[in-house]
Amino acid sequence: MERTEIKTLLPEELAAEFKAMGLPAFRAKQVFRWIHRQAASFAEMTDLPLALREALEQKYRFTSPKVLRKQVSSDGTVKYLWELWDGNSVESVVMRYAHGNTVCISSQVGCRQGCAFCASTIGGKIRDLSSGELLDQVLFSQKDSGVKINNIVLMGIGEPLDNFENVTKFLQLVNHQDGIQIGMRHISLSTCGIVEKIDKLRELDLQLTLSVSLHAPDDETRQKIMPINRRYNVDELLAACDRYFAATGRRISFEYAMIDGVNDTQMHAELLGRRLAHTGSHVNLIPLNEVEESPLKPSKPDNLKRFVGILKEYGVNVTIRRKLGGDIDASCGQLRRKRERQTGVTG
Ligand code: SAH
Repeated sequence: MERTEIKTLLPEELAAEFKAMGLPAFRAKQVFRWIHRQAASFAEMTDLPLALREALEQKYRFTSPKVLRKQVSSDGTVKYLWELWDGNSVESVVMRYAHGNTVCISSQVGCRQGCAFCASTIGGKIRDLSSGELLDQVLFSQKDSGVKINNIVLMGIGEPLDNFENVTKFLQLVNHQDGIQIGMRHISLSTCGIVEKIDKLRELDLQLTLSVSLHAPDDETRQKIMPINRRYNVDELLAACDRYFAATGRRISFEYAMIDGVNDTQMHAELLGRRLAHTGSHVNLIPLNEVEESPLKPSKPDNLKRFVGILKEYGVNVTIRRKLGGDIDASCGQLRRKRERQTGVTG
């Protein structure tokens, strides 16, 4: 029989299962707390009777990712390559900012979206991560690095809205008052623009920040680099963003990777400026990180400067992403790709 992953359960759900096992309700809270205090096994839950720990071991899978690789940057950024229970691997990155520490986590093993510039999608999607495996990345990054995590960004490997149920369950787990308790306003979720799922997320009316990987203001350019644009074009995507803002009051943050000669011309800047002026949205320009398998190059500094200037003329709130961990391949998917190339292992 397939064992349930205990870390995917909320205290209320655990309590219902424990009740059916004839256990008192407080045990559920106790176990949930141990999990969120980063226990690595049932054996560590020393205030539980031994017989109960053994019974739980029989009934539930207790996931506990192993550090396959760890890289520490001179700026304090720590990047992990985790090995999951089935031998697959994913990455998380801990970044330290003046306003608090952030962990960037992966949502899937691989990705099926096929963006031309992204290392995470090269081998396709292997599988979704469970809500417990999403939680593990937060808990074990904090535990191993010793850095207290204040913020979570779902901007690692994978498309979070392609793993909607597990991702939203994860949000409930990290948000729960008996656990690590990270507020929705301290969580960002980034999507390549799956309109139907943006609408579904809107209906949940959470206070999280939605980031949208736009990367081009027109269909012709966008569909060259992002296959998802053939399913939902720029007009449809921006309309969904407007609906999201109108319903939740949370402004969208757009990501825009600056790619030399592809999306960084004056025409692109002006069109982007026109489309986003008056929305109050924020644009985060990311100088492209070069990926070995791709011929795409980062924009030239002068073009980046011109782009920023034009957006400002339109009154768009624009920043250039500060590069953390540049010396440790801290761009998503790069560490996992390296392992695949070296070992022939996928995932
Ligand atoms: N699938 C989600 C989550 C990934 S978030 C999404 O598409 O939003 C990672 C962010 O980094 C996305 O904005 C992605 O488009 C961007 N990105 C991926 N590869 C990159 C690269 N080589 N250089 C710069 N940005 C990149």
